[in-house]
Amino acid sequence: MSAIVENIQRIENEIKPKGATLIAVSKTKPIEMLMEAYNAGFKHFGENYVQELVGKYEQMPKDIEWHLIGHLQSNKVKYIAGFVSMIHSVDSFKLLKEIDKQAQKHSRVVDCLLQIHIAEEESKSGMTQEEAIEIVNSTELTELNNIKIVGLMGMTTLTDDETQIRKEFRELKGFFDKLKQYPKTDNLQLENLSMGMSGDYEIAIEEGSTMVRVGSKIFGNR
Ligand SMILES: *Cc1c(COP(=O)(O)O)cnc(C)c1O
Repeated sequence: MSAIVENIQRIENEIKPKGATLIAVSKTKPIEMLMEAYNAGFKHFGENYVQELVGKYEQMPKDIEWHLIGHLQSNKVKYIAGFVSMIHSVDSFKLLKEIDKQAQKHSRVVDCLLQIHIAEEESKSGMTQEEAIEIVNSTELTELNNIKIVGLMGMTTLTDDETQIRKEFRELKGFFDKLKQYPKTDNLQLENLSMGMSGDYEIAIEEGSTMVRVGSKIFGNR
């Protein structure tokens, strides 16, 4: 068995009993490596860059679920709206409206996660909790029939300090539980909490993650 497939199986064995899903982050990695995973039955891939995602989508089998996890510019939504399964990195209402507009052209409903800023670093993207509350409270949201907000995503501060990482995950989980109190509507159904990467997915699972995005621990360093 290939190392890639072994890595995926090892991580899935750790997280599946906890009810979490693995997204294999394949950015910068060649199609041959993704196909090793696909041929073993694995279908959830995450990519950061629109151009790379489109290229891989075009060359690979069509039953793959593609997750866009990196920062997305509004003017690039049109390239992925026809096929992307989930966008984890919605960091503004403006972007959400553009996804809705482009998805409508393809008669699709695109699952979206609101990316919440939880790290100490200013550089990490994501909206504030207040902005997220504004979106879910907005009457405008009810008019967006081609997106569905299905959860939240967050990235922790780049640090070895486990206490800090755990604190940030816990804060996001707390906010997730708070938002879940809002009434569910057709396009607001919070079920996914996307948190955890190669370095911290074990902690993320302990803190309530339902979706981990793991790259280097599957495909090797970039
Ligand atoms: C690159 C990336 C990952 C995966 O990172 P690894 O440390 O290689 O597991 C996860 N999430 C996002 C948003 C990324 O950009």
